[in-house]
Amino acid sequence: MTTPNRTAPHTKMDAFQGILRLEAKRGFDDQAVFGGLDEFLAQWRREMEAGGEEQPLKALAGIVGGAYREAGPSGGAKRRGYRQLTPAQREVWARHILEGLGEGAAAAAPASTGRRPAKAAAKKGAASRPPRPAAAIPTAGPSLDAPTTRVPGVGPGIAAKLENLGVTTVRDLLYHFPRRHLTMTPVRDLSPDEEQAVVGMVWESGVIRLGAGRMQATEAIIGDETGNIRVLWFNQPFVARTLKANDRVMVTGRVSFFRGQRTLDATAYEVVAEGDEAFAPGRLAPVYPATEGLAQRTIRRVVRAALEGWGRVVAEILPEETRRRQGLMPLPEALPSYHYPADNGMRDAARRRLVFDELFVTQLALLSRKQRWQEQNTGTPIPANREVLDAFVGALPFSLTGAQQRCLEEVLRDMAGPRPMARLLQGEVGSGKTVVALAALLTAAAYGQQSAIMAPTEILAEQHFQTFSRLLQGFSKPVREPQILAVYVDPIRKPVVFGFLTGRLKPREKREIRERLESHALDVLVGTHALIQSEVGFARLALTVVDEQHRFGVVQRRLLGEKGHRPHVLSMTATPIPRSLALTLYGDLDISVIDELPAGRRPVRTRWARPDQRGTAYDFVRKQVEEGRQAFVVCPLIQESEVLQTRAAQEEHRRLSEEVYPQLRVGLLHGRMRAAEKDEVMRQFRDRELDILVSTPVVEVGVDIPNASVMLIDGADRFGLTELHQFRGRVGRGEHASYCILMADDPSPDAQERLSLMEREADGFRLADEDLRLRGPGEIFGTRQSGLPDLKLAGLSDVELLTQAREEAGRLLARDPGLEMPEHRGLAELASRVEVEVAGES
Ligand code: ADP
Ligand code: MG
Repeated sequence: MTTPNRTAPHTKMDAFQGILRLEAKRGFDDQAVFGGLDEFLAQWRREMEAGGEEQPLKALAGIVGGAYREAGPSGGAKRRGYRQLTPAQREVWARHILEGLGEGAAAAAPASTGRRPAKAAAKKGAASRPPRPAAAIPTAGPSLDAPTTRVPGVGPGIAAKLENLGVTTVRDLLYHFPRRHLTMTPVRDLSPDEEQAVVGMVWESGVIRLGAGRMQATEAIIGDETGNIRVLWFNQPFVARTLKANDRVMVTGRVSFFRGQRTLDATAYEVVAEGDEAFAPGRLAPVYPATEGLAQRTIRRVVRAALEGWGRVVAEILPEETRRRQGLMPLPEALPSYHYPADNGMRDAARRRLVFDELFVTQLALLSRKQRWQEQNTGTPIPANREVLDAFVGALPFSLTGAQQRCLEEVLRDMAGPRPMARLLQGEVGSGKTVVALAALLTAAAYGQQSAIMAPTEILAEQHFQTFSRLLQGFSKPVREPQILAVYVDPIRKPVVFGFLTGRLKPREKREIRERLESHALDVLVGTHALIQSEVGFARLALTVVDEQHRFGVVQRRLLGEKGHRPHVLSMTATPIPRSLALTLYGDLDISVIDELPAGRRPVRTRWARPDQRGTAYDFVRKQVEEGRQAFVVCPLIQESEVLQTRAAQEEHRRLSEEVYPQLRVGLLHGRMRAAEKDEVMRQFRDRELDILVSTPVVEVGVDIPNASVMLIDGADRFGLTELHQFRGRVGRGEHASYCILMADDPSPDAQERLSLMEREADGFRLADEDLRLRGPGEIFGTRQSGLPDLKLAGLSDVELLTQAREEAGRLLARDPGLEMPEHRGLAELASRVEVEVAGES
C-alpha cells in the first residue's frame, strides 16, 4: 500500500492523554495501556517515523524528555523508561506532560460534582477543584467515578463499610450485583422451607420471650389482601422498636411451623413506600452480597439511590450493531432491570446483557493483546515440507491419531504464515503431543531454521531427548557425544542435529553446544527453560516449543529481548482445561486439542478403597512389585504448611519402608528437597533402583515411568478431580495393566461423589468440567495465579455467550484494530482494566 496506515496525530495525542489520566486513576501502575506506556510511546514514534513526521516527533521527544527530567529519576546514565520510574516519579512525569500539552492540572481532576447526575457535567466543578492526580475518564460518564458519598444517604460510615465490599464509586454500586433474587409472594402463596419475600402491612408488633430461657424475639403480624402471617425475628428484640403498626414492609425469610402456627422466620426486612413499584407482587427483590455491619436494607437503599440517580445516564458501551445482532438489552436498561426485575424473564435478559459485557471486554483485551503482538512482530514463514513429514510419520511404529493429524496441520498452517505462531497444544498425558512437536521441529530444520524445545525440569528435558532418539531411530547416524543426535531425513541434504543442553555438562561441553548454536551447526536444542533462556544465542531461531509451565509471553520477553523478529511459539500443556475456561485463560493464544488417545490404550482401573481395605491395597501393591512393576504413593494433602507436609511424607516413608515393605526399596520425594536431589530420586525410580516412590502431593513427578503400574493416593478425599486425574496419569503409560487406588478414611458426601466419579470416568476433560461445576475455577486454578480475570456475573456455563462475545470482539477489532475510534473509547478503557496476569511471571 502506498498510503501509510497511520493515525492522525491529534487522535493519538488524545489517546495518550487518556492513558495518562487513566494511569493517574490507577495509581500509576503502568497498566493503563497494554504492554506499558513505554511500548505505547515507542509504537507512536515508529508510526510518526513511518509517516515522515519530523515536527511532531521532535515535539513529542521534547515533551516526554522534559517531563522525564522533571520527574528526576535517580541514577543511571542510560535513558530509562516510564517503567523504571517509581509511581511517585510517574505522577510528576504525567503531570508535567499534561501541563505541557496545555491541559491544566484541573483537567486531570475529577470533573464531576453534585448529586444531580444530569447536571453533573456543569463546568464550574472542575475549575474550583484543587488539582489532584486522580483523573476521571470522560467517555464512561464522569459522574460514575464519583465516590459513593455522592449518593444521597451515603455518609462516611456507610461508605467505609461499602469499601469492605470493594465498592468505592457510584459505578461500583451500580455493578454491585445481587447474589440472587427472591420473588415477592402473596401471604397465601408462601410455601414452607424456601426463602421468599413478602410485602405486607404491619398490624401489630412487640417483643416476646421464648420458652423459659432468656431469648427474646420480635413478633409481628403482617398481612396483605390474601391473608396474614406471623413473623419472628429471633434474638432481635430491637426490631420491634423500628416496626410501627401500619408500616408497609418487605420481609424475606422462610416459612415454618412454630408452636403449631405458620410463621415466617425473617432474614431481613425493610420499610417500603406505599405504591413503590419495585415491590409489587410477583416482582423480584435483590439479595446482595453483604458485609459486617451493613444490613441488606441499607445496601438495597443505596444501590437503588444510585440506580435512580445514575442508572439511566450510564453510557452504552457496545457498538449498536453488536448489541442488535446479539439481541441484547441497552445497558442503561439492563442495570436497573437486573437489580429489580419485574420477573424472571427480565432478570435473565438483563443478566445476559451484563454477562455479555464482561465476556466481551475480556475477549477484547485478550484478542487485542494477541493482535498487537502479532502486528508488531514478524515470524519466519516456514512452509511444510511434505516429503520430510511423510518420511518421519511413515517411519513411526504407529500411525498418528486423527486428533494428532488435525493438530499438526493447525501448527503447520501457523508456521507457514508471516505472523509468529502463538498456539497452545492441549492434550492429556500420553496423547502424543511430543510427536506433534517433533514434526514441527523437523519442519523448521528442513527449512534451514533453528528451533528449541524447553521443559520445566532437567529430567523432563532428558525424557524429550530420549523420546526423540527413539522416534528417529531409523534415521539416526552414530555420533560419539551422548548429548548430540544426528539424523538424516530425506530429502534434507545435511543431517539434522539435535543438541541436549543439561546442567550436568562440563563447561567445555556447554561451550561447544553454544558455539554450534551460534554457528548453526545445531538445528534443534533440547533443554530446560532456565538453561536455554539464560545461556544461549541462536544463529536463526524460528520456532520454540514450550512444554508446560511457562506461558508464551514470558518466554518471548526473556528469551528474545527486543521486538521485531519473533520465533513461532508452540506451548504444550497436559492440564485439561475446559474450552470455556481455556478461551479466557489462554484467549490470546490459538488452541489445538488432542482429544483422542492412541488406540489400544487401556484405561487405568480405578478403585476407591474403604478404610478396612488398606491392608488389601498394600498387598496388591506388593504383588505388583513382585511381578516387576513399580508403584507411586501420594501422601494426604496438608494445606497449612509445607513443613508439616514434608514431615508427614517422611513419616509415611518411614512407616512404609520399615513396617509395611521392609523388603522393598522405597524412595521419598518432597517439595523441600533441592532440585538436584529430586532429579536424582526420580532418576533412581526411572532406572528401577526403587520399587515404590512416596511423594508429597505438590511435587511434580512429571517424568514418564512406563513400568509403574500402581498409583496409590492416600487421603484421596482431600483432592479435587483435576488433581486426582493428574496423579492417575502418572501410571498407564506402558504396556502393563495399571491401577489407581483411592484411599479415603472418612469422606464427606461431596468427596464420595468425587471418588465414585473417578471410578467411572476416565476422560480428563469431562472430569475437569465436573470439577469446575463442583468447585469453581478459583479453587482449581486460583484466580490470581491462573490469570483468570475477575468476572462478576459470568460463569463457566456461559460457554455459548462466551463464544459469541469472542466472535464479536474479533469483528470489532477487525474494524477498529487499536480501538481508537471515539465511540470505542469506553470499551478501550474497560479492556485496559482487564488484568490478565501471565502465569509464571510472578
Ligand atoms: P504426551 O507428550 O502428550 O504426554 P507423548 O508424545 O510422550 O505424549 O506420547 C506418549 C507415548 O505414546 C509415547 O511413547 C509415544 O511414542 C506414544 N504415541 C504417540 N502417539 C501415538 C499414536 N498415535 N499411537 C500409538 N502410540 C503413540
Ligand atoms: Mg509429554
